[in-house]
Amino acid sequence: MTKIIDGKIVSAQIKEEIKANTQLLKQKSGIIPGLALLIVGEDPASQVYVRNKEKTCLELGFNSILKQLPIDATEKECLDIIHSWNNDENIHGILVQLPLPKQINEQNIIKSISLQKDVDGFLPENLGRLVIGLPCYVPCTPNGIIELIKRYNIETKGKHVVVVGRSNIVGKPIANLLYQKKENANSIVTICHTAADDIREYTKQADILIAAVGVPELIKADYIKEGVVIIDVGVNRVSDPSSPKGSRLCGDVDYNSVFDHCSAITPVPGGVGPMTIAMLMQNTYKSAAGEIKF
Ligand code: NAP
Repeated sequence: MTKIIDGKIVSAQIKEEIKANTQLLKQKSGIIPGLALLIVGEDPASQVYVRNKEKTCLELGFNSILKQLPIDATEKECLDIIHSWNNDENIHGILVQLPLPKQINEQNIIKSISLQKDVDGFLPENLGRLVIGLPCYVPCTPNGIIELIKRYNIETKGKHVVVVGRSNIVGKPIANLLYQKKENANSIVTICHTAADDIREYTKQADILIAAVGVPELIKADYIKEGVVIIDVGVNRVSDPSSPKGSRLCGDVDYNSVFDHCSAITPVPGGVGPMTIAMLMQNTYKSAAGEIKF
């Protein structure tokens, strides 16, 4: 029977653990984890993401600061805010909600965040450390995938993992994490992308298939081999006249088509999505507790 990998349940457990650790940290050293959030513009999806992060901070006993700038804000305004947060000892994590408007260079903003406060794990130095297996902040979505693999006891050693997608925030880091000579990794990894004539040539070989593509329901039954474990990272909104909203969320995997052929799968919503925010909170906690030694 196919097992559903439930990110809602696992993320709730992780948040409970973080909440308990936060209370202990407060009692022992008076430190309260603090997360600073910067958002530029009024993009409705970004507004929802940021509000959720603020709400989760409150639930876990963290402090949070939210700075909202108008859509025509300058790069210098953003850099000044980040600079002041870098120097504020009550702030342990800094998150800039992406995407940023065109006049602001995303890489300049990311690079201005102090390495110790880069809880998104997007700084080139953090990613370099990840590649060579040194302590670092692991980017939240790939970290959430590893945590699901760990908590569902999915064997990774010697397994062929195929990752579809090579973005800097999902595809590249998850591929790099899974070939490390470590527990919950040690896999043989293939990455495929739009340059492949037919990705089925690769996806059909996967023992574990990770889809981070951004194409609704691309992966169907004829893309997989029997018994594969599927991690669907995609979050896509597609029109659906049968739904009261006229649309629904779906992943990069055609859930109904693959369900009877895989041994385990993350649903969308409720799979990888809820893990991302839990991992952001975990990184912020680790920063406050000084757990990552650079
Ligand atoms: P992205 O930056 O757009 O990258 C997509 C990758 O998929 C690219 O490497 C692209 O190849 C590849 N690709 C696109 N179409 C393809 C096709 N037809 N065949 C093979 N490869 C194809 O996307 P992302 O930021 O990684 O996000 C991917 C999905 O995950 C999106 O749906 C996003 O919303 C979702 N996401 C979810 C979470 C979460 O918390 N659950 C977090 C982040 C992202 P090229 O490099 O050749 O262009």
